[in-house]
Amino acid sequence: IEESEKFRIEYWALEEAKLARLPEPKPLAGRVAFVTGAASGIGKAIATRLAAEGACVVVSDLDADKAAGAAAELGSADVAVGVACDVSDGRAVARALGEAAVAFGGVDLVVNNAGLSISKPLLETTERDWDLQHDVMAKGSFLVSREAARIMIEQDMGGDIVYIASKNAVFAGPKNIAYSSVKADQAHQVRLLAAELGEHGIRVNGVNPDGVVRGSGIFAGGWGAQRAEVYGVKEEELGAFYAKRTLLGREVLPEHVAAAVFALTAGELSHTTGLHVPVDSGVAAAFLR
Ligand code: NAD
Repeated sequence: IEESEKFRIEYWALEEAKLARLPEPKPLAGRVAFVTGAASGIGKAIATRLAAEGACVVVSDLDADKAAGAAAELGSADVAVGVACDVSDGRAVARALGEAAVAFGGVDLVVNNAGLSISKPLLETTERDWDLQHDVMAKGSFLVSREAARIMIEQDMGGDIVYIASKNAVFAGPKNIAYSSVKADQAHQVRLLAAELGEHGIRVNGVNPDGVVRGSGIFAGGWGAQRAEVYGVKEEELGAFYAKRTLLGREVLPEHVAAAVFALTAGELSHTTGLHVPVDSGVAAAFLR
């Protein structure tokens, strides 16, 4: 071999060795995620996982300071920002998603997570309870999905919308008509939007958690105490109690819900839309309440 040819071979061998030392790109690198209700609980775990997998993340929640604080935990402003957004207010939703698109040059992964639980028996459920529950979760996720779809269709690069629904979307919840019925509404939004947005390459899927007690705010404000009384356990034992009655005997934590969101959006399930993934250690499969 001529001297110049030898040099060429050595040069490329060195370049290849350098490339092999570069870290693999993260699965969500280049994606921009917008997560509602992300300052606490399951939403915060989702935002954390998506950021760890390389996405730029917009942490949105009711309170601006809490949203900003949660975003700051994920990294600097070039990877995570916090925005105030009451999902039941159409103008606030349009503003927040617009700000997100400006901050990161687009939005292509949206998680409808924001929620609250008014868990009362039928005769105690007031008209106001019903309206609040439906304003935040049915109307709220409709408004967020509509605005997200507007942006994604304009971008023409597909996208993902994920709903954090519930086991109660499918099975009767324990005396919580307002909460369970709004979860069923969200589950139907998944199917309806999967059908309508598929032609734009936008996939719409749902996650149905159950029994996420530790790290979640939904059991606060009396609901946890009430459940503990119904099951005859101490409130602080509720998480362990829920876990024990499942098929797997495993407690469901916010990060397990976040793992399902990652699995649905990271690319391996590119041909899946309209799916609901249970994250409940087997409660729904066994028809356990
Ligand atoms: P959480 O109370 O810890 O979090 C809910 C978040 O939503 C809070 O940060 C709250 O500020 C925010 N929020 C409330 N109203 C809002 C509004 N109008 N606009 C924007 N944000 C608002 O509760 P969580 O358990 O993390 O619940 C998250 C989602 O998971 C909810 O949709 C809930 O129904 C669903 N889920 C939870 C469980 C569970 O076992 N914890 C089970 C099934 C489904």
